[in-house]
Amino acid sequence: WKLQQQNNELEMLRRQLEASNKELSYSSSHDPLTQLYNWHHFNQQLQRRVEDLGETCVLIVDVDHFKQVNDEFGHSAGDEILRQFADVLRQEVRATDVVARWGGEEFVIFCPQTNVKDAQLLCERLLSSVRQKSFEPVAQLTCSIGGARLAENETVNECLERADKALYRAKNKGRDTWLWDGEASTAPAS
Ligand code: GH3
Ligand code: MG
Ligand code: MG
Repeated sequence: WKLQQQNNELEMLRRQLEASNKELSYSSSHDPLTQLYNWHHFNQQLQRRVEDLGETCVLIVDVDHFKQVNDEFGHSAGDEILRQFADVLRQEVRATDVVARWGGEEFVIFCPQTNVKDAQLLCERLLSSVRQKSFEPVAQLTCSIGGARLAENETVNECLERADKALYRAKNKGRDTWLWDGEASTAPAS
């Protein structure tokens, strides 16, 4: 009987350990604010997965004039808006795409098995859903997107750098728009 009790206690401990391990691995891979993957997890996954993905595109999405939102409505309203923004991204991507919070008001979308044309359609869709959504309490919000196609023999980080340059150009162009990195957009889209 005593042995039975000890076994039960051990089993309980084992379950507690398992649960706290799960929690730990969740919190080390997710962004606490938006519950999206964090950049750490994103990076880690990509080191493993890049080989067998087929045509792959990467997008960087940055909220426009977010500093003004914080200044006007306060930091915690800003946080809430980032959560709502993350929801829009989650809703628009396909199940096979990976969305992560890159930091601040910047997000990365990784689209495996996606040609440039489809990734650009996703850009259009994202811009228009953000434009149409009413974010509490600011109401209207826009974002800018930079995209690039993962070239052969290129690391995801190199591709992200190109996407980031395209994003920079999209900002300079006036925001609420997407731009593609020059190299990839000249390649056949299918
Ligand atoms: P741009 O259109 O050029 O992107 O302008 P911006 O104001 O969005 O960009 P900038 O990089 O100047 O400012 C980003 C702001 O995002 C500043 C920072 O306070 C805010 N921010 C970053 N992380 C968070 C966060 O977790 N919560 C809140 N509320 N604000 C954040
Ligand atoms: Mg911004
Ligand atoms: Mg930014």
